[in-house]
Order: sequence, then C-alpha cells, then structure tokens
Amino acid sequence: MSLLEVKNLKVHFPVKHGLFSRVRGYVKAVDDVSLNIQAGETLGLVGESGCGKTTLGRAIIRLIEPTSGQVTFHGEDITRLSGSTLRERRRGFQMIFQDPYGSLNPRMTVEQIIGEAIDIHKLAKTPAARRARINELLQAVGLNAAHAQRYPHEFSGGQRQRIGIARALAVEPNLIVCDEPVSALDVSVQAQIVNLLMDLQDQRGIAYLFIAHDLAIVEHISRRVMVMYLGKVVEMAEAKELIQSPQHPYTQALLSAVPVVDPASKRKRIVLPGDVPSPIHPPSGCHFHPRCPVAEERCKTDIPPLREITPGHWVSCHLATAASAVPAIAETPRADHRQL
Ligand code: SF4
Repeated sequence: MSLLEVKNLKVHFPVKHGLFSRVRGYVKAVDDVSLNIQAGETLGLVGESGCGKTTLGRAIIRLIEPTSGQVTFHGEDITRLSGSTLRERRRGFQMIFQDPYGSLNPRMTVEQIIGEAIDIHKLAKTPAARRARINELLQAVGLNAAHAQRYPHEFSGGQRQRIGIARALAVEPNLIVCDEPVSALDVSVQAQIVNLLMDLQDQRGIAYLFIAHDLAIVEHISRRVMVMYLGKVVEMAEAKELIQSPQHPYTQALLSAVPVVDPASKRKRIVLPGDVPSPIHPPSGCHFHPRCPVAEERCKTDIPPLREITPGHWVSCHLATAASAVPAIAETPRADHRQL
C-alpha cells in the first residue's frame, strides 16, 4: 500500500466578474491529477510558474480544498475530513514553504515556533521534555540550543529554512510537501538544504513531494519525477529515465535548459515559442500544442491521454510510443523566442 495515493484530483478556482460577482469561468489549476508516493520515497514535481504544482501540493495536505478527487493517506481517505480529526491527521503530513521568512512568525522565538507544533499535538509531557525535544530538533537541522531564544530576523535565509524544517519535523511526519524550499536561497546554500533533507530522509524514513522549477535539483533528490503543464501531468518516470530519455517535448525543452557539467555533452538548447497560455482559457486538444515544435493537426483537437509507454514511464503525447521517441526538436534562435 502506498503512503499517499491521489486519484483524479481537481482544483478549479471560479473566476468572478461584475457587480454581482457572477462566475465567468474557472481556472483549472489542477486538472485530473493522479499520483502515489511510497514510504521514504521522494517524488519530484517540476514545471514553470503557474503550472499548478504549488496548488497540487497544498490540496494534497488540505491547505486548499480540492474541487473533486480523492487523497488517501495511510489507506484513509482524508479528502472529506474536517475539524479535530483533520488536525490530528495533519501530524502525518507537513509542509515546508518557499519563503522561509514569510512562513515564520516574526514575533515568536524559535523555541515558540517549534514548540507550538509540539503543544498542539501534546507531544511533550513536561517543560523539560519539551525543551529537550526542541534542542534535539535544532541539532538535527544543523542549529543548536543557543538559537532557541532568537527571533527569525536574526537568522540567514538558509538558517530560517532550517527552522522551518525543524518545525515540520517536530510532529514526526511521514510525508513532507517541500514547496520550492531552496529557490529563494543563494546557490551556495541550496545544496546544503537539499543534502540536509536527504540526510533526514535516510535517518527518519520521511517521504517528500519535492516541488521545484529547477529540474537539476529535482533530479538530484528524487527517485521519480513528474512534470506538469497547465494543471496536467505531461510526463512521469524514474528520475534517471526521465533525464536520459525524456519523451514529452515540454520535458525535452525543460531539460535542455539545465546546465551540463561535461563540455563534451551535445545537449541542444530548445527554446519554446510564446508564453504559457492563460489557464482560464487553455488551448484546445493538447494544451501544449501552440508551443510544441512537433505538433500535428490532431493535437489541436484531441486531448492526449497519459499513457504508460514503458513500465513506470507515463507520457501525455500522441507521438510517444515505446518503440520510437518523440521526434527531436530542432534548436530555435534565442532572439526570436522566450527562453525557458
Ligand atoms: Fe506536441 Fe502533439 Fe505531443 Fe502535445 S500531443 S506534446 S502538441 S506532439
């Protein structure tokens, strides 16, 4: 049994207009997404800004109400839980946010921030046990007991993210949704936080849904990777397979923007034409067709289903088959088009 199973999840936000706030349409931020995560596994989730990845992460842990679909955690359907039952189950799944400063209350000390979660779930019987637990958590994330009485503004961005991680760990979760946890940090600090998350996973068996727009980081930390475009999953595979044999033209373009260390590598840069379309009026057929360099006539009308083309490798593209890869995309002059 998977730790987390998401089936046909949809999050549609109404677009209201006019004096009487009439609903004029819906933004399909997450549109029929299914996934699963095993205990102790990391599933990476990538895509451009606005593709729905953060909304998906929040809907999974019920920070946003899904429009429809089902989220099962430890075999229990948590989609319709509310009140104290949901609060109690939240102990099992936590979130780390992109902006470590914005997510920490500036008026609370580190001890109060971490202690709050311990208090809500009554995880320490005495003040001494509470203090010992907070100190243990600070050490686990590379801080120390002397930091407990300080306020968030006294820390660097990387240290603040460590505090956010300690707060998430306080309730001993089985799953942490990491929402772009390193994208606001200096490049030199990003690797430290990613390595810390990997060490904590080894020590505590935590599963991660790791959301990022940087495929290089996601590849490093994840066992499997899922790519989203305009609210839909377009490709999902083992990280190694996805990097070596991307099948969807959008994944190929994302990958081409990842710097390669080996100068002998012949990876071509693919620049997609146009911008990401409005999610209020997504293109017909395959949502990617106006930007797809290998689109065919049928792509304008037929929605490509997400198909398993080889075991564990899922692609939503009419041209993807197990036998033949989607045609390679020709390099596009950078001056004419927006670069990914
Ligand atoms: Fe491109 Fe058509 Fe495949 Fe969509 S279905 S990615 S438009 S080739």
